[in-house]
Parts: sequence; C-alpha cells; structure tokens
Amino acid sequence: MSKEVITKRLSTTDAKGARVFVYAARAKGYFNSLKNKIHFFLILLFLALPWIKIGGEQSLLLDIPNRRFNFFGLILWAHDAPLFFFVLAIVVFALALATTLWGRVWCGWACPQTVFIDGIFRRIDELIEGSYLKRIKSDRGPWDAQRVIKKLIKFTLYFLVTLIVTHSFLAYFVGTDNLMDMILSSPTNNWFSFSFIVLTTSALMFNFLWFREQFCIIMCPYGRFQSILMDEHSLAPFYDEKRGEPRKGLNKDKKDHADCVNCYKCVTVCPTGIDIRNGLQMECVACTACMDACDSIMSKLNKPKGLIRYNSEAGLENRKWYRPRVIVYGVSLLIALLSLTFFLQDRNPYSLSVLRQKGAPFKELKNETLNYTNFFKLYIKNQSKKTVTVHISLDQKYTTQNIQLITPLNPVVITAEDLFRAPIFIKFSKDYKFINNPQLALKFKIKSNNQYHIETVRFSLLSPIN
Ligand code: SF4
Ligand code: SF4
Repeated sequence: MSKEVITKRLSTTDAKGARVFVYAARAKGYFNSLKNKIHFFLILLFLALPWIKIGGEQSLLLDIPNRRFNFFGLILWAHDAPLFFFVLAIVVFALALATTLWGRVWCGWACPQTVFIDGIFRRIDELIEGSYLKRIKSDRGPWDAQRVIKKLIKFTLYFLVTLIVTHSFLAYFVGTDNLMDMILSSPTNNWFSFSFIVLTTSALMFNFLWFREQFCIIMCPYGRFQSILMDEHSLAPFYDEKRGEPRKGLNKDKKDHADCVNCYKCVTVCPTGIDIRNGLQMECVACTACMDACDSIMSKLNKPKGLIRYNSEAGLENRKWYRPRVIVYGVSLLIALLSLTFFLQDRNPYSLSVLRQKGAPFKELKNETLNYTNFFKLYIKNQSKKTVTVHISLDQKYTTQNIQLITPLNPVVITAEDLFRAPIFIKFSKDYKFINNPQLALKFKIKSNNQYHIETVRFSLLSPIN
C-alpha cells in the first residue's frame, strides 16, 4: 500500500469511497511469537473440542431441537434458561472488564476473525503468493498463467479450510456422530444442515477472501462498544510521540530527528492499514504488529525498544487499575459467577408438572362420598443420568380432608433422561374448603442411589361454588 496514510477518511477507502485492499506484512518479534502460540492453541481447541468426550457425552453440544445442552458433563435443558442468562452475563461482564483494563485484547488475541485470518489465511497468502510486496505486484499485474494458477490454489486451500471450520462449527450443534453420518449420506437427507454449510461456507469465504478487516471496522458491534468501555487508563498500543517526534524527514533541515526514522514499517504490518503515530484510532484492533515492527527497527538502530508500546492515555506511571467502572464490572462479574454457582448447586435434576386436562374443568360424581373429580396430566422428566423411582402422594395434611389421589402407576420407575406422562385424578368431597385451601400440594418422593428427594407441585382444584 501507499506510504501516504490518509487520516481524514478510512485508510481502507479511496477518495471515491471504494475499497483499498490492505496487504499487511508479517511482523516478527515477541508479541507475534506469543500470538502464534495462542492462535494455534485456540484453533486446536475449536477443532478438537467436539471430539472430546466426557462421561461418554460430547464435551460441548448445543442440541437445539431437543433443547438439551451439554457443557463438559453438565446437562442443561430448556427450563434451565435462567442459567443461560447468567452464562451470558458472565461473558458480557468479563469482556467489559477485560476491555476496560486491557483495551481490545479480545480483538487482537482471541477473536475468531483475527485468529483465523492471522493464524491460517494470511499464512496461505504468504505460502502461495509470497511476501506482501509480491502480493501487491501480482495483484496489480496482468492475469497471466502464473497468477491464475496461484489464485486457484489459494482459493482451493481457502475453501478446504473454510469447509473444515464450518463443519467443526456444525458439530457443536448436531454432534460429531451425526455430523459423520451427514457427511457420508446424501444432502437430500439433511437439507437443513446442508443449507447451513453452504450458506456459512459462502459467507466465510467472502469474509476471509475479501471482506477481512472491514468486518472489524464497520460491522463488529464490539468494536463500536469499546469506546464506551475504555477510558484513559485502559491499555492500548501507543506511539510515544515525545520520544519519536520530530520524526525523520519532518525537520526543515531534514537532518536532526528524534527516534522515529519514518520507515513506515509500523504501517506496512498493520492489518487495518492505519498509522498508529496519528494516535489511538477506532480501526486499531490492538494486534500489536506495529509494536513488534517498530521494536525490530529500534533494535537495528541500537535504540531502546518500545517507541510503540502498550500504554494508556494517562501514561503507564499514572495508570490506575481501580476505577469506578473496573469495580462495577468486576463486582457484576462476581455476582453473575456466584449466582451461576448457586443455581447450579440448587438445580433440580427432575422436572415435574401437573397440567389440567382439556374439556370440563370438573366432573360431578353421583351417589359417591367424594362428589367431584378433576383430571390432570402429570409429566415427570428425569434429567439425571440414573434410573429413579418416584412415589406420588398427596401431602399428609390433605388426607383428613376427603381428598383422594388416583394414578395408574405408583411408584413409577423412570430411566435416565426419560419423560413419564400419565393422567391423574383427584377426587374430593364438596366439603373441601376451597376458599381457605386454593392450592393443593402433590408430593413426589424420588428415590435415586438409595437416597430420597422430595419435590412438591402445587395446583388448584375446581368445582361449582356452593
Ligand atoms: S495500529 Fe498497530 S496494534 Fe493497531 S491494528 Fe494496526 S498494527 Fe495492530
Ligand atoms: S516503525 Fe517505528 S520508526 Fe518506523 S515509522 Fe513506525 S514508529 Fe517510526
């Protein structure tokens, strides 16, 4: 790219607003080497996680059609939705806290967009088309045979990698066993999954091949939020203006200059095409490439490293980590973590419900001591991984009140993750005091591993008002 870095418009658009493609050079140095290791680990984790089994179950499986969610051995169901709220709250507050303390650390080090582009696709570019200068030359040159062949090889590699990414992503929702069956069977047997793969592969190919940093600059909502989350004490890559200016070539006599030799190395490695010397900018994804690039120049010049370094607007010496927003996000994160722990411990492995049957709300029984009956449908879902025995009974206090429970099966044996449903009848006398006892309690004594657990479900009886 040109050495003129435009500051009045996006560096990736020309005067007419058309896209200017960024050919970022690879920076080598401490941060690049650390980032490579982290990216490698994250990619490996993403690909391997669906294949790792815990207790015979896929470690992470979000089975949406069956509303069954497996988190490292913990099975959650749709009615555990409040837990998902806490998980979401933890993610939001953790991101907010990390951004307030360390700026766009997520963008530069762990966001899938950065990890895949930097960790895989930019490497494919370098492998097939060479250095950034060769890539610029090739793309500005004629469409000769060599360029066509290189583009075809690159496109094929991109396509294969993207297919692996989309299939791995799908495995988190359909399971690896199902995924293998789907891959080996005709697409007509799995239209939905097949369409998902076609759409996501196309979208990702567009993103990885062409859209790239534009996603971070104009589409990513987190990128927009960071200005609210960050303050003058948040860390970000900063250019040390005091040390660097006047840069080489800016003085009238063009001789004396400070530490910046105006080599533009920090610009050529920037994946969003900006010049960090113009100050912290919205496009900066804190990838640290400019820090490595400038450090390599400083080393060659025998000058101290860190002309571009992690810093804050307040300066490293004046930087406070305990600020109101850090405390608010930290405390909120702690509350969300504690709430999740509490709900997980208190979580019921059985789901019980009593629903009134359709039709007449009650039935009058002629010539019987118990004059009325109400019909209900009982649902017991055993969400545990063990077979349980359930004894159903009315609370003892009702036995003196002329109320009788009739179930077709009692006790009930329910195997792991099975749903038991059956009609139940409650017969009661017209003397039953509805006004004082609007709710009836049905008790479930659940036996599992020779331990008893009592659950109570409350519901109302209906009869004509006398
Ligand atoms: S300015 Fe530096 S840290 Fe920011 S995106 Fe560009 S190279 Fe990365
Ligand atoms: S890499 Fe360092 S010396 Fe070179 S232009 Fe950027 S800030 Fe100046």
